Formats: sequence, C-alpha cells, structure tokens
Amino acid sequence: MLAFLDALSSGPLLLDGAMGTELLARGFPFSVCYEELNLSRPEVIAEIHAAHVRAGAEVVETNTFGASRLDRGVREVCEAAVALARGTGAYVAGSIGPCGRADEGRYRAVAEALSSADLLIVETMRNPAELLTAVRAAKRTGLPVVALASFTDENVMADGTTPESIAERLIDAGADVIGANCSEDLLDVAARMTGAPLAIVPNAGAPGAYRSPEAFAIEASRYFAIGARLVGGCCGATPAHIAALARLRR
Ligand SMILES: [Zn+2]
Repeated sequence: MLAFLDALSSGPLLLDGAMGTELLARGFPFSVCYEELNLSRPEVIAEIHAAHVRAGAEVVETNTFGASRLDRGVREVCEAAVALARGTGAYVAGSIGPCGRADEGRYRAVAEALSSADLLIVETMRNPAELLTAVRAAKRTGLPVVALASFTDENVMADGTTPESIAERLIDAGADVIGANCSEDLLDVAARMTGAPLAIVPNAGAPGAYRSPEAFAIEASRYFAIGARLVGGCCGATPAHIAALARLRR
C-alpha cells in the first residue's frame, strides 16, 4: 500500500461519509458520547466503517470527531478508534474536530493519541485560530495533515477570514492538503483555495432535508471534476451516498 500522500498524488481518493449520521440512524442519540462507543460498542463502529468501504470509500475517518472535547480517556478512545478503522484495510484518517477554542494542549493530546493513523484530518473548524492551532499540533506527529475549514453562507469563516487567506495560513502551518467541509455549495470556496492539494467534503444538505444519494453524488462529483484530490461526505452522507459518488466518479 502506497503512503497516503503518494497515493493521493497518483490519483484522487474517495473519503467515507458521516459517522454521526449512521450512529443516529442506529438509535444512538447525540446525547450519547459517540467516542466512547469505540470501547463499549466496537462492533457498531466497525460495521459502519465496513459499510463505507463496501460503498467504495478508500479512506475512512476514525470515530474521534469529538475527542478534543473529552476531559479524560482521550488516548483509550482514540487508539481503539484507529484499530477499528484499521480493520477495513482502507487508509485510516484520524478525525480531529473542534473543541471550541485554540487549546494547544487538547489538540496535541488528540493528535498524539491518533498517531498510529495514516493521516490526520482537522475538520469542521469555523475559527481560524483554532484551526491553525489544531493543524500545528497534528503536524507534530509527522503524519500527513488534511486541514478542512468550514465557511458561512457568505463563504467566509466565522471571523470573516476568506478562503484565500486561510489557504495561505494553512500551508504556512504545514498542512499537506487543504480544503473545506460541512457546507453545501463549496465550488466557489474550492476555486479560491490554492497552493496545495485540495480536499472537499460537502454535507448532504440540512438536517431533516438531506438530499438523495444521486443528488449528492452529482454535486460532490463536481469537486473531483475541478481537480480535488480527496472528496467524501459530511453530515447526512450515508454509505448509499458514497456508493452513488463512487459510481459517478468512474
Ligand atoms: Zn458535517
């Protein structure tokens, strides 16, 4: 198996869909600590990863999006999460989501606990300072880092930072792949984030109004068409959405 960045430079890769959407559908409400399920219900997490890989995902994200918010048990849940994703044979991306502030200690702890992954994905970050702090912490592991910003409907970050500006700062911070996630129309953002390989991870619409797998795939495949190297699905994207995207990509 090629190292992740070598694989990415030889051809675009398909990322999986949303873990939270699948857990909700399996009867685990958002009040449950999803990261703890890596220890208490590993078979459920493993089955969700397997469903995404059967759908065509070549990179799976660990069930650790909320690990940066945990006050204890970070190492345990992260190591279990990497092992569960590893079982699929796909590239394992350690997921690092926001804790709500630029807390270097928290991000270092999560990144270190995920360091047996193939790469780290810092995602759904709406605040530039927090995003850059997490990217620098992730870089310390020596793993490739994918840095995904989230934008408002006006295509700026929460403090008004533009796609051009955050792209430049992410590259300075050492991000290997840059891009955006968890918004619907990211074409404008994608065109404005230049200087490094691009990753775009759109959601499937708003909660309660998620688009069909086919409609999602038509939108998401446009990112492959404009040259994005890594595309997958955020909120609302199920294995059926990823399978539809895999079919269109061919
Ligand atoms: Zn999302």
